Amino acid sequence: MGNGVSIQCKKCDYSTTLFEGLGSRTQDFEVFRRELTKKENEIIDFIINNNNINKIFHYNVYTKCEKCGDLSTVPYVEINYDNNKVFKLDYECKLCKGKCNLISEEEVINSKCPICNYEHLQSVRNIFWD
Ligand SMILES: [Zn+2]
Ligand SMILES: [Zn+2]
Repeated sequence: MGNGVSIQCKKCDYSTTLFEGLGSRTQDFEVFRRELTKKENEIIDFIINNNNINKIFHYNVYTKCEKCGDLSTVPYVEINYDNNKVFKLDYECKLCKGKCNLISEEEVINSKCPICNYEHLQSVRNIFWD
């Protein structure tokens, strides 16, 4: 089961809904992978086919762009393989191509508005989804 949060800015009309975690359907990595780009899937296939895979972690995460502050949901994948090797997908901002960092729900709510820079977005509701 995943959860999410709807946030809005008190000053401008910015609002968005973000999700994290996994639904019952996307617990299956093969289903979850459909969210990824072709290039990302090719990299993952390459690792899976050429190494001893120990464990694959996958779930949706909240991210924030280092450059423009845009908030979004991305499919996170971490593959542990061979002897303590770890592969993680990197995320770039869809708006400015900046680097996106993983953040917590609290950090989402305490972020500045990416549009007008007004401090503290307001959380309007929490969502539970499956
Ligand atoms: Zn705003
Ligand atoms: Zn950005």
